[in-house]
Amino acid sequence: MVHQLPKLPYAQDALEPHIDATTVGIHYGKHHQAYVDNLNKLIPNTEFAELSLDKIIVKAQPGPIFNNAAQVWNHTFYWEGLKPKGGGKPGTELAAALDKVFGSFTNFQQQFTQAAVTQFGSGWAWLVKKKDGTLGVVQTGNAGNPLTTGDVPLLTCDVWEHAYYLKYQNRRAEYVAAWWNVVNWDAVAARCAKAKK
Ligand code: MN
Repeated sequence: MVHQLPKLPYAQDALEPHIDATTVGIHYGKHHQAYVDNLNKLIPNTEFAELSLDKIIVKAQPGPIFNNAAQVWNHTFYWEGLKPKGGGKPGTELAAALDKVFGSFTNFQQQFTQAAVTQFGSGWAWLVKKKDGTLGVVQTGNAGNPLTTGDVPLLTCDVWEHAYYLKYQNRRAEYVAAWWNVVNWDAVAARCAKAKK
């Protein structure tokens, strides 16, 4: 199976001013593309050659195949969780699920932001649905993906420096604050509903 770079769901400048066009262009066109290309070079003639990304992520040991497969998955998931003129608050059902665990949307946002800002070095912050059906916030380092621990990802923020350095330099907290303005809550709610099945 040859893995493909999925189409970006909006124009490269569509997330301006929160995430700038140059960053999106390089992040999507160079970094995301490179993970796809690397994965396609690594998997031929291995047990992973015909597996979906999800299956590779769950089955692969730590190493280049896991790293590149997870980074392809994580980036596609990141782009699809964002939209121009996003942000605001989630719809009723998701808001209620967040309230149940975090007490309020504001508390959830604070915990997620904390996870994103404190992840040491490269990695990701996630909203996940756990095995017991409740929601949780987790952070993963490098290419880490919650699927490996049985959680279902609902939303992610990329905190690798390549996700923000051109515009925000070392100010990761500013990037995360701006990132909330492009979250696609409809996409997150749809993922949450699908995870119930
Ligand atoms: Mn990235």
